[in-house]
Amino acid sequence: MALTPDSVKKLVAGGVEVAVEAGAGVKAGYLDSEYTAAGATIAQHAALITSADVLACVNRPEARDVAHLKAGAVVIGFLKPLDEPAALEPIVTRQLTAFAMELIPRTTRAQAMDALSSMATVAGYKAVLIAAEHLPRMFPLLMTAAGTVPPAKVLVLGAGVAGLQAIATARRLGAVVEAYDVRAAAGQDVKSLGAKFLEVDLGGIETQDAGGYAKELSPEALQRGRDMVTKRAGQSDVVITTAQVPGRKAPLMLTAEAVNSMRPGSVVIDLAAATGGNCELTKPGETVNHNGVSIFGPLNLPATVAGHASQLYSRNVTSFLSLIVDKGNLKIDMADDILKGACVTYQGGSVHPKVAAALGQSVASA
Ligand code: NAD
Repeated sequence: MALTPDSVKKLVAGGVEVAVEAGAGVKAGYLDSEYTAAGATIAQHAALITSADVLACVNRPEARDVAHLKAGAVVIGFLKPLDEPAALEPIVTRQLTAFAMELIPRTTRAQAMDALSSMATVAGYKAVLIAAEHLPRMFPLLMTAAGTVPPAKVLVLGAGVAGLQAIATARRLGAVVEAYDVRAAAGQDVKSLGAKFLEVDLGGIETQDAGGYAKELSPEALQRGRDMVTKRAGQSDVVITTAQVPGRKAPLMLTAEAVNSMRPGSVVIDLAAATGGNCELTKPGETVNHNGVSIFGPLNLPATVAGHASQLYSRNVTSFLSLIVDKGNLKIDMADDILKGACVTYQGGSVHPKVAAALGQSVASA
């Protein structure tokens, strides 16, 4: 859900009228009656679309819904502007304004709106639970009268938001954890969670951009990382991969050769499956059994923890709304660096270069 009852209450107190699609929150644990108590009205899908000044959603709305939005309406959600820019055509054609949550700049002021971090947190946590459920071994070290059970060994590739949450969750369950990231800066975070940071000599190249994200690496630097991962994978019960480079295919980190070195019963969770996967054998949205090693390629883990994923996302969306709503009225100041960064189309002009290129437009100035 893009808005939970708590957030609705805040928005209504700030002079905003909120309408919620009937029954939309039930699967996430939020009832229509809770929304009504918070001050929202409950509407059927079609009525909601045609009346909204702002449509706050989780994923990009369907073209048939965009066709019925009011002139000048604003759409906010995960719009996939970098992965599927051409799919934003209906929004551009209707001359609407759209903000993509995934483009919100990662600045201190925008931290409360950082929905990518919220979802990565949920995914990193859930990945470990899936691994623990399917591994035919326990995570903690146990000393029992029947003998000692050694702790599970977990290897985490990519130590950004999802990777760090996976490390923390695996450590809480008692696993021995090691992690690798191209950004040397991640080493300190990894160690502070009680995991070992695996270092690879990348010849001193710059691996991090000004926004704190990984840069795309040279084939040689990628290969060095893969060689190290291949050595460590055979010693691991679980490998969780989270490595991504924004707007590009996920880097290949876990080769078939590396998976071949893992023991039957081991588990791979590939959190980069939606952008091509970090494991050579991943099939997005499926679970592959390769010589007894289970390789999971989940596409949307936050949806499996919908209650808390919605709570976090809703707070991100509400913070963002505070930038464009003033005393109940829409007020968009495109000079604001957060709005400028997150905007993909403004009143029908493609503001984002990738969207403009996909639609054969030149970049409009807002
Ligand atoms: P992400 O999801 O784009 O990538 C996940 C991780 O994979 C990153 O740590 C990246 O360095 C790593 N990676 C990419 N290619 C790799 C490769 N070939 N080998 C090994 N690792 C590879 O990133 P993310 O988790 O969203 O965030 C990345 C950075 O942004 C972190 O430094 C994080 O602390 C920072 N961040 C800052 C803010 C803020 O300032 N508001 C908010 C969130 C995150």
